[in-house]
Amino acid sequence: MPPISLSQSVFLGAMLLAALALPQRATAQVADAIYTGGDILTMRGPAPEYAEALAVKDGKILFVGSAADVSKHAGPNTQTVSLADATLLPGFIDTHGHMVYFGKNLVDANLFGTPDIPDLIARMKRQAQRTPADGWIVGFGYQTRAMKEGRTPTVEELDTISTDRPVMIVDSSGHLGAGNAAVFKAAGITAETPDPRGGSFERKANGTSLLGPMEETALNAVRGRRPPFTGTLADEAIAGAANVWASHGHTTAQEAGLGLGNDDIGIVLNAIDKQLLPIDLYLAAKDSAVDDTIAASYVVASKYTPKSDGTREKLLSRRPDLDNRYVHRVRLGGIKFWLDGSIDTAWFTQPYATNPPGRTGSYSGYRQIPDEVLDAAFDTYWPTNLQIHMHMNGDAAADQALAAITKAIKKHGMRDHRPVFVHASYLRPDQIEKMKACGAVPTFLPAGVVAGGDSVVKLWGPERSAGAMATRTFLRAGLPFTFSHDAPVSPTPSVLALVDAGVNRQTSSGAVVGPEERIPPYAALQAVTATAAYQIKEEATKGTLEPGKLADLVILEKNPLKVDSASIKDIRVMQTIKEGKTVYRR
Ligand SMILES: [Zn+2]
Repeated sequence: MPPISLSQSVFLGAMLLAALALPQRATAQVADAIYTGGDILTMRGPAPEYAEALAVKDGKILFVGSAADVSKHAGPNTQTVSLADATLLPGFIDTHGHMVYFGKNLVDANLFGTPDIPDLIARMKRQAQRTPADGWIVGFGYQTRAMKEGRTPTVEELDTISTDRPVMIVDSSGHLGAGNAAVFKAAGITAETPDPRGGSFERKANGTSLLGPMEETALNAVRGRRPPFTGTLADEAIAGAANVWASHGHTTAQEAGLGLGNDDIGIVLNAIDKQLLPIDLYLAAKDSAVDDTIAASYVVASKYTPKSDGTREKLLSRRPDLDNRYVHRVRLGGIKFWLDGSIDTAWFTQPYATNPPGRTGSYSGYRQIPDEVLDAAFDTYWPTNLQIHMHMNGDAAADQALAAITKAIKKHGMRDHRPVFVHASYLRPDQIEKMKACGAVPTFLPAGVVAGGDSVVKLWGPERSAGAMATRTFLRAGLPFTFSHDAPVSPTPSVLALVDAGVNRQTSSGAVVGPEERIPPYAALQAVTATAAYQIKEEATKGTLEPGKLADLVILEKNPLKVDSASIKDIRVMQTIKEGKTVYRR
């Protein structure tokens, strides 16, 4: 069928309406704002479709069509926005990120790029001034190797920031850190405290006092004693993160592991009560188990317990109206499970090509949770409106998911559940077929396969890595897929970086991972707009520019479909509009 241009279809629709209308002349609704004069990309349908004008009224899209027709919606108070060279698109939708967790990092001192210990101390002193009296003074992101001294600061050095308030620094990997005397006191740690399994506290040569640095589980033991984020700290964490999301063009964010932090629920409820969020936030409540990538930089249980930890129940007991409806911009939409680990702990049916450091013999990663747990989860949630999200990187994890879904379908019948295969880095062709049959949708993580490309190729072997993040395969089969940044796993929630990764699949060394799986820019944009809305079951109100949908919009400096593909990543977000209101302007 030849494509009908949007202006034609809208015009035909208007004619039909006119024919059905009452005898007296219907007065067109007056728009609050009209956008025109640049590229307006509706993201409707399989090929790019442009409109000349878009009108907004009361937070919703009133009209999409020709410049001539939009004039009937212009009134004396209508704001006219000329796009000039900019491009208007539906607002971006986050299908897997950690906005709450990101926000907590945001309020800590930024220690990225710190050149030496005096600079680190200076940054931490500034942090001390802005930290509430009862809070810990925390900094995140330094790299020992990149500092002039080539070592981690000591207790004495950190005591110069404060002697009576706890001070803790965590390096950019999240695995190493150091503290002052007050933080060890607050955590009940002395030189006599035995090292926990899988970690250590460094001690001075005499062994009778702590040196300051700590590793892995030892760091987690201290970090776990940090008081929960409350008051202004909680406000700043979530509102700050939402602003970062908005600055990258998001009108819908996600926290895909609510409950990983013991203060997550409090932070979210605080945001609801104070109406702090300028954009929507979709929550997937943690049910159990561990996200490797998050465990690396946040305290979580290190062992799996088959019992649900009840994040969903706790949240709903305090805010029952959150059940699948937006309440002051927050909605509980899903439940999150972790089936395997990350690049070097992904669970495969075939052994790794090269073992990760510390692994011997035939190694193919490992599971995180027993089958019974996932089976029970699908038995419970398959017939409900809460979606199950499953972190998975290897094909054995995808097998586990598909087996659980198959059982649920057998018992409850097919439902419009749309299980979310989070990352889904490596899927076999037979699994893709099964995903189609049960309506599962992957949200691919370019930060794993593309950004980590060179090590992925080494660990997984050339064949598995070339077929990883199988976007072209999905596209060819007409199956939905999305992209996600998993921020703070990606250091920023940049959406154009995802589009770039889907189009170019280029690693930091310049190599292309799986060139056959590269996709056209339009398909990559669909994965962060229309299909993203579908994945979170909000396609009725979001994802495309159509009359009646929410006026969730992003204005980009340039049209990603009209620039050289290498420069997609450099396109800047100029403005983000949530339900007609500007929430970010460059
Ligand atoms: Zn994640």
